[in-house]
Amino acid sequence: MPKAIIIGAGVAGIASAIRLAAKGYSVQVFEANSYPGGKLTEVSTDGFRFDAGPSLFTMPQYVDELFTLAGKNPKNYFEYEKLDEICRYFYEDGLQLNASADINKFAKEVEQKTNAKASEIKSFLKKSDTIYHVTHKVFLERSLHKLKSYLHWDTVKSIFSFGKIDAFRTQHKANLHAFSDERITQLFNRYATYNGSNPYHAPATLNIIPHFEYHFGAYFPKQGMHSIILSLVNLAKDLGVEFLYNQKVNEINYVSGKVSGITSDNKFFNAEIVVSNLDIWFTYKNLLKNITQPKKLLTQQRSSSALIFYWGIKNIYPELGLHNILFSENYKAEFDAIWKDKKIYSDPTIYINITSKHLETDAPKGCENWFVMINVPANDGQDWDNLIRAAKQNILQKLNRILKKDVSKDIISETILDPRSIEFKTGSYQGSLYGNSSNNQFAAFLRHSNFSNKLKNLYFCGGSVHPGGGIPLALLSAKIIDDNIKKA
Ligand code: FAD
Repeated sequence: MPKAIIIGAGVAGIASAIRLAAKGYSVQVFEANSYPGGKLTEVSTDGFRFDAGPSLFTMPQYVDELFTLAGKNPKNYFEYEKLDEICRYFYEDGLQLNASADINKFAKEVEQKTNAKASEIKSFLKKSDTIYHVTHKVFLERSLHKLKSYLHWDTVKSIFSFGKIDAFRTQHKANLHAFSDERITQLFNRYATYNGSNPYHAPATLNIIPHFEYHFGAYFPKQGMHSIILSLVNLAKDLGVEFLYNQKVNEINYVSGKVSGITSDNKFFNAEIVVSNLDIWFTYKNLLKNITQPKKLLTQQRSSSALIFYWGIKNIYPELGLHNILFSENYKAEFDAIWKDKKIYSDPTIYINITSKHLETDAPKGCENWFVMINVPANDGQDWDNLIRAAKQNILQKLNRILKKDVSKDIISETILDPRSIEFKTGSYQGSLYGNSSNNQFAAFLRHSNFSNKLKNLYFCGGSVHPGGGIPLALLSAKIIDDNIKKA
């Protein structure tokens, strides 16, 4: 049986392992940490459980697909529910929107509470649908670096429809034009942060992102986000995949332009196929030191990072739901602080995720588990300890203003994740959440390909080698690799 080695047990590494095992390869996964999941892991402290990284689950069909291609019933491994409410939005002027997954209901609420019209929401989401249909087969599901992708009829159709994807104005410009109320522009600008970008620079093509939530839906895995990883690891093990933890890979080995295996702990492990799930930056800098480095890619602007407070709260806040956003009053100033000054804005937009609203066991009785996140710049050597101290005070003051409660009195447990610890724990250069940023219209083309053009049988998967960067797109990177590897 030919052997494949996967470096890294992030969601895309595990998906690649499943796909190659289903193709008949003998698969080993080498993971530097003592646990799988990379960014998609969990934190448990003082009786509270938190999903440590991703909290929004979209496109569950890409997870299901892994079970079905292995001939298994997904429901035997992993269950999730569709959310009726996508997010609660809070503004400093008192406006609150409970965005329903039902577009008509959401559009009606927007019309009743703001100056924007229901028809504006509907035509905006129709445009998102068009961008999705023009781009998904070309940008999301195929390699942009393979000639055969361009010979496909879908690609030819997409090229002729290129004007429809709104690549030549910024997302903010498009959204300002689309809505008669700037608070709704702000609401839809927020989607740029789903891949760590800046809506004032990123192309309006990113308006594809709301389509994932409003058309395909937002979901909650019944046992929390981390259960995505646990169920995929179980599936991989059932297919014979071997996981080696605390096993950091130091080098990708090759002979005559073809991979021969990897080195870990000074020991060589041979393989016909090697897939790196690392951030592509570290793959080149640490594992492929003697290969010509792709200078442009390695010097591009990184996507933003995050500062997260995992708070155990000794109270119940009925005004909050599973996903909540408390908007900054001046969004432009917030993004300028992040991208120009490389600082944290004094009035940051706050995202609060409370899984105990759906999964009661995530917090003790009468308590809630708050995942409180703000967008921050990638780590460039800032004085993080001071920035974090100030950010915490600013967050608490904002919560006070909007929720009219002194939340600080309810915090009984605290753990913090910042750009430094994100890099340390997951191997993401500068703690960026999504690899390089998408702050220009060529970003999708500038992403590294999913295969090496220097070393035969070397492949790359994960958030840093796909135009998107979140879980669904990391999963698609594994699919693209699969489409390019022959059966064993
Ligand atoms: P990663 O998760 O980056 O894993 C890479 C793995 O490689 C790690 O386990 C690491 O330990 C291992 N590794 C590194 N170096 C080595 C080595 N030398 N040898 C062996 N192993 C090594 N996405 C969404 O879809 N929705 C969200 O709501 C969302 N929110 C997010 C919030 C936060 C705070 C974060 C951090 C991310 C969020 N994301 C979200 C993004 C999502 O988590 C990622 O896109 C996805 O998990 C990336 O998976 P990956 O396969 O690229 O690998």
